[in-house]
Amino acid sequence: MLDHMSGEREVFAWIVGDEKLMRKYGIGFAKPTPIPRQLFYAADYLVKGETVEELAGKIGVDADGLKATLATFNRDAEAGEDTEFGRGSTAYNHFRGDMDHKPNPNLATIDNAPFYAAKVRMGDLGSFAGIDVDSRHAVIREDGKRIPGLYSVGAAAVSVFGGGYPGYGSHIGPALVFGYRMGRDISELAAESGSADALERAMEVQV
Ligand SMILES: Cc1cc2nc3c(=O)[nH]c(=O)nc-3n(C[C@H](O)[C@H](O)[C@H](O)COP(=O)(O)OP(=O)(O)OC[C@H]3O[C@@H](n4cnc5c(N)ncnc54)[C@H](O)[C@@H]3O)c2cc1C
Repeated sequence: MLDHMSGEREVFAWIVGDEKLMRKYGIGFAKPTPIPRQLFYAADYLVKGETVEELAGKIGVDADGLKATLATFNRDAEAGEDTEFGRGSTAYNHFRGDMDHKPNPNLATIDNAPFYAAKVRMGDLGSFAGIDVDSRHAVIREDGKRIPGLYSVGAAAVSVFGGGYPGYGSHIGPALVFGYRMGRDISELAAESGSADALERAMEVQV
């Protein structure tokens, strides 16, 4: 998406769906029938077109291009294989799909008028590039030595997954676990504060 829109002022894509999608699943905040959608049309969150051409005109894309994209997508959906992006090719994809839908839980044809679109903008869920810490989430210097009394956890700390995103909870999970552990260490240090031991323990690197 970034490559495709390099040089543009805004990086975005459109999610496009049809009436059967809106009846069963909705798009983003626009929930499935019978939840009212007027608010989403008024806010330009959801765009509706009686035909593919009308929708293309409203969202400012080339109608023939959109028709060609839909033709490829619909062929793939019927065959159950997304030849362009591999949607539905992993168990992780299936978790967010509809397991009752065959042959691919993540692909259904878009051919039932009216048609809908919602804009998707770039955002970030979190960072993997936080402050370097040891296994107790004490902040360490380049030489691996602790900075006494300084801890970092959650989005502020380097990720335990080292840059990968294995699945939901990859950010909140370690934030909770290591936050709890860090809190216990800090409270122990506070209880010992003033003692020579406390400073020694704060300097100690436990791997
Ligand atoms: C849309 C979205 C969806 C997500 N979905 C998931 C998910 O499904 N699973 C998952 O694991 N993670 C998910 N994440 C990531 C997860 O929410 C974050 O990684 C996590 O909340 C980070 O927790 P944190 O406590 O480190 O930081 P934050 O939750 O960012 O907390 C930092 C706090 O510090 C406050 N603060 C900032 N500066 C100051 C200051 N100077 N003084 C005082 N307070 C300050 C902020 O207001 C904030 O309350 C999602 C994130 C987003 C944005």
